[in-house]
Amino acid sequence: TLCWHLARRPEGIPGPSDFVLREMPLPPLPRGQVELEVHGLSVDPYMRTRMQPQGYGYLAKWGPGTPLSAWGLARIRRSRGRWREGDWVVGHLPVANRVHVRVPEPDALLPLCLPAATPLPGRWLHEHGMTGFTAWLGMRHYGRPQPGETVLVSAAAGAVGSLAVQLAHRAGARVIASAGSAAKRTWLRERLGVVATLDDRDPEGFAEALAEAAPEGIDLDFESLGGAVFEAAIERLRPCGRVVLCGLISQYHDPEPRRAPPNLARLQAIGGRLVPFVVPGHEPEHWARFQAEMAGLDPVAPLDVLHGLEAWPRAFCGLFTGKGIGKRVVRLGCQ
Ligand code: NDP
Repeated sequence: TLCWHLARRPEGIPGPSDFVLREMPLPPLPRGQVELEVHGLSVDPYMRTRMQPQGYGYLAKWGPGTPLSAWGLARIRRSRGRWREGDWVVGHLPVANRVHVRVPEPDALLPLCLPAATPLPGRWLHEHGMTGFTAWLGMRHYGRPQPGETVLVSAAAGAVGSLAVQLAHRAGARVIASAGSAAKRTWLRERLGVVATLDDRDPEGFAEALAEAAPEGIDLDFESLGGAVFEAAIERLRPCGRVVLCGLISQYHDPEPRRAPPNLARLQAIGGRLVPFVVPGHEPEHWARFQAEMAGLDPVAPLDVLHGLEAWPRAFCGLFTGKGIGKRVVRLGCQ
């Protein structure tokens, strides 16, 4: 099968030449394992942190020559274990084409009851998959906005952010959302109905713009960016305000470990709360509830689909230059 490998560690924003497509041999299927046909791959910012030589992360680092892996949607093609052929699963998969992919740890897969006629399997990588789970966990489980509260969501036209906005609305909060382009900010106002939008690619002007949009402060910051945006949000928090720390994408290219905002002490001074979280480990306890709630939400959830395994580097690199709205996926094969 063909699989994308890291050619070299990127410096700054990754480019397509940092990756190389190589043949990966598939030995005969051992007992207890399954062979998968990959149909869709999630394109996620955290993968950039795995390409750094050091720094925090819950998954091992990738060096030159390492095969890449991503959250993906697959169908079981052959089974020599307890999974049934034809079943759909999601899990961590090699960034490989749809021809027979073996997964060494079938227990790491989550089975899906995918209706036969589901038009877009990409949904299982977006609002009903790990992306939706991230937004749900951060907003619904940890952030818990209350009716009338003011919530700030950064990178809000992206995959996690756009769902987080809608979960906050559903809880009765008013949302201020930030994004890096005028088109994205218009979409956030017109399609998602946020009360105000800010430009989070303008670190200098951000604090002032936030103060204007939220003169009485914010109650909750759903933080995905880090840097000046995070700092400005802490400065605007009302007494007992909360931060759910989902990600720090603006720092993922720094070779040094990521930095805390210099005004972190303000959180203590106002009796605030900082809740950093990662998805892995939460699935057993919360997955079923998340699925049930998401099914009732029917969110606006655009998919930004690129086709074919060859498109993977382009899809990944585009995450950092803010190309699409919603969730970026690479679709493979027959879907
Ligand atoms: P997105 O779909 O939001 O794509 C990334 C977006 O971030 C881009 O479109 C761009 O939007 C913005 N962006 C990228 N680089 C910068 C930068 N330097 N400065 C400002 N904006 C930037 O990705 P996801 O929704 O998948 O991820 C959003 C966040 O959630 C990330 O921080 C990610 O690491 C985190 N995450 C955390 C998880 C967890 O378990 N805690 C799980 C999954 C994701 P724009 O055009 O608006 O600038």
